[in-house]
Formats: sequence, structure tokens, C-alpha cells
Amino acid sequence: MTMHKQIVIIGGGNAGISVAAQLLLKRSKLQIAIIDPSEKHYYQPAWTLVGGGAFDITKTERSEASVIPNGAEWIKKKATGFEPEQNTVILEDGEKLTYDFLVVAPGIQLNWADVKGLPETLGKNGVTSNYSFKTAPYTFELIKNLKGGKAIFHNPHTPVKCGGAPHKIMYLAADYFRKHGILKDIQIEYHSGAGKLFSVDKYEQTLKKVVQRGNIKLFFNEKLMEVDGPNKRALFEGIGKDNEGIQSWVNFDMIHVTPPQSAPDFVRNSTLVNQAGWVDVDQYTLQHKKYSNIFSIGDASGLPTSKTGAAIRKQAPVLVENLLCSIDGKAMKGHYSGYTSCPLVTGYGKLVLAEFDYNNNPMETFPFDQSKERWSMYQMKKVGLPWLYWNKILTGKA
Ligand SMILES: Cc1cc2nc3c(=O)[nH]c(=O)nc-3n(C[C@H](O)[C@H](O)[C@H](O)COP(=O)(O)OP(=O)(O)OC[C@H]3O[C@@H](n4cnc5c(N)ncnc54)[C@H](O)[C@@H]3O)c2cc1C
Repeated sequence: MTMHKQIVIIGGGNAGISVAAQLLLKRSKLQIAIIDPSEKHYYQPAWTLVGGGAFDITKTERSEASVIPNGAEWIKKKATGFEPEQNTVILEDGEKLTYDFLVVAPGIQLNWADVKGLPETLGKNGVTSNYSFKTAPYTFELIKNLKGGKAIFHNPHTPVKCGGAPHKIMYLAADYFRKHGILKDIQIEYHSGAGKLFSVDKYEQTLKKVVQRGNIKLFFNEKLMEVDGPNKRALFEGIGKDNEGIQSWVNFDMIHVTPPQSAPDFVRNSTLVNQAGWVDVDQYTLQHKKYSNIFSIGDASGLPTSKTGAAIRKQAPVLVENLLCSIDGKAMKGHYSGYTSCPLVTGYGKLVLAEFDYNNNPMETFPFDQSKERWSMYQMKKVGLPWLYWNKILTGKA
């Protein structure tokens, strides 16, 4: 059976719901279908604070039904493929959905199984991750119960959602250990697939001081190959010029793993992607480079900026404006600067609000130096942003 919709949105996460809500606020008669198989919708940015014991995990989950905007139809199925020449999306049951316009927003895929041993041991043996609703609370269990030894925090060799999340939890852990007088008994190590701590120098300078304060050892250009949970050891392999191919086992008492990530398989195996496997859209208009009636936004898109909800807040109005221009047969006016933001939690009650564009130039909102750690910005992350998300962003009003 084939159904037709004027606008089909794949993914009812942060990006898909924002776009649907904004479109309907502007034109209530638009015929919009949102494809998403998930019963639940998550506010993932708070999982860092959950891992630090500073946020209630149950407050990060709501039913998907409760966030679908009035006027949009929810198709509770998985999208499995595209026939862009026929303006068609294929669903898991073989059903086809045709569209006038398509928005591709299925988020990012967490490739846990790319690290040998990880799926089997995640959530036990001292192995945790804030990248999952199920295990984020276990991170705090581990931090709270560690009395000495080694704590490893890992950042993979692939792009990830929220580039700060793999190390923000490390700063919280260091602060927790210091507050409990045991920092001197715990060696903290950061093993990263990247070549530096943070892409924007202005904020990295502050982070380096936080690293010093926590007596943290940094290891760059390393890929996590295997986690041997029962024996509490992790295997890293060098991927840099100086350490290429060199493997070493590192023992741990706890390890926080960030899984390697990619666009979802049904996207990366389609003809919609660029060489790196992300949806190939123009970085300023968010329109597909080959198919003019396809747009993409959020983590699955090939926009060369850091993948965050904050970026989506600036992308959504641009996509909405350009899609409406396209419906009207007019030239597109919306322009996305690459804006993204990372609220870098550096301790309990401490946060550096990084905001920057495609060229890693700071694009700050507040009239003060945002590279300084601030209590006010921590409160904004803990209290202000979750409220903004559920009440304004998902309803298309911010
Ligand atoms: C630990 C952590 C900390 C973070 N911290 C921050 C932060 O401090 N600030 C910030 O701005 N961002 C942060 N983020 C990132 C932010 O959560 C994401 O960038 C944002 O959720 C991306 O939105 P999205 O709509 O692209 O993807 P998602 O919100 O993940 O939604 C994707 C949706 O697509 C659906 N889907 C998947 N596959 C299919 C399919 N085949 N068919 C149909 N639907 C499908 C899923 O069910 C889901 O509902 C953090 C993320 C994590 C995990």
C-alpha cells in the first residue's frame, strides 16, 4: 500500500519535532507525517548531570505521543529506505510513503558493537556510559562507590553527539572525588580518538586548567578496540602519526565509554549521503545537494558543525523558512551560520558556555566572558534548558 503526505519527517526527536511544530505554527493546514517507531522521547542533554548524580533520570523521558504536535500524524514505524527519484520512503513493513517534501532527522546511531566486548559488559563490571538512558544512572553508582584506583573516560575516534559529553562527566567525577577527599587516591585518565581536548582554543584554555585541577592524564589519537569487563581492562590502539598501530591494555576500576557513532544504517546505505556517510545537505540552506525536495537537520545531517540540540535550535527556523519558500516556489532566504553550543560542565555548580560557528569562532550570547566557569550558567543547564526544551523548543516557540 502507498500513502501520500505533503511533508514527511523521518525522526520525532529533538530535530523532527521542532521542525514539525514550527511548520504548523506558521501554517496550520500543512499535511505533515512524522515517522518514528519509539514509544519514548528523551531529553538527552541532562544525561551528563544524571551520570554526576545531579539530575533525576525519570525527568528526561516522556511519551513520544505527548510531544507530537497537534495537527501532525504520527506513523509509529521505522523508516528503512529511500527511493528519492520516486519521492518515496520505505517503512519496515514494506509499506511506502510518498511525499512532496522530505525532512531527514533520524539522529545518530550508537555503534556499541564496534568495540569488542562492550555490549556484553556495559552496565556492569565498572563499565558505564551516559549515552544510554539505561546506564547513565550507573555512572553515578560507580563514581559514588569508587574509593581508589583508576577511572578512565573515553572519547571515540568518530563524530559524536555533544562533543563535550565524553569529558564533562570526567570533570564532574574529579570534582566529586575532590569534595570527598579522595582525588589523591584516584588516577583519572582521558583516552580520546581526537587530537585535542576541545576544538575552540578560547574554551580549551579553561578546560586545560580544569584538567590540571583534577590531576587528569590526557591520551590523544587512540581508538578503543576492546573492553574486557571481567578483567577490568581496556585495549587502546594508536591512530596518530606517532603512535599508529601501537596497542596497550589499560587496567581500570571504572570506565565511562562513549560509543563510536555514525548516521543510522538505513541512511548511510542510501544514495542521500556524502562521502563520510551523513545526509549531504548544503551547509547554509539545509537543502539536499542533489534532491531539492529533501532537507536534513540534526545529528544525521552532514552539517560540518558539532552535533547538539543547541545547533538544532538555530537550524530549525532556517529549514522551516527554506522549506516554506520551496513550497511557494520562491528563492530560499534562510541561512544557517553553523552555530552550535556546548554547555561544558566543569564541576558541580560550574559551567563554561561554549558557543561557536562553522569556523570555530566564538558566537556568544551573554555580555560577559563565557570561557570563565560560572554558577549562573550551570543553573541555566540544570533548570533553564530542560524547561525550555519541553515547553518551548518542542512546541516550536523557541
Ligand atoms: C550524554 C549526552 C549529552 C548531551 N549533551 C548535550 C548538551 O549539553 N547540549 C546539547 O545541545 N546537546 C546535547 N546532546 C546532544 C543532543 O541530545 C542531540 O544533538 C539531539 O538530541 C539530536 O537531535 P536529533 O533529532 O537529530 O536526534 P534525536 O533527538 O536522537 O532523535 C532521533 C529520533 O529519530 C528516531 N529514529 C531513529 N531511527 C529511525 C528510523 N529508522 N525511522 C524513524 N525514526 C527513527 C529515534 O527514535 C528518535 O526519536 C547530548 C547527547 C547525549 C547523548
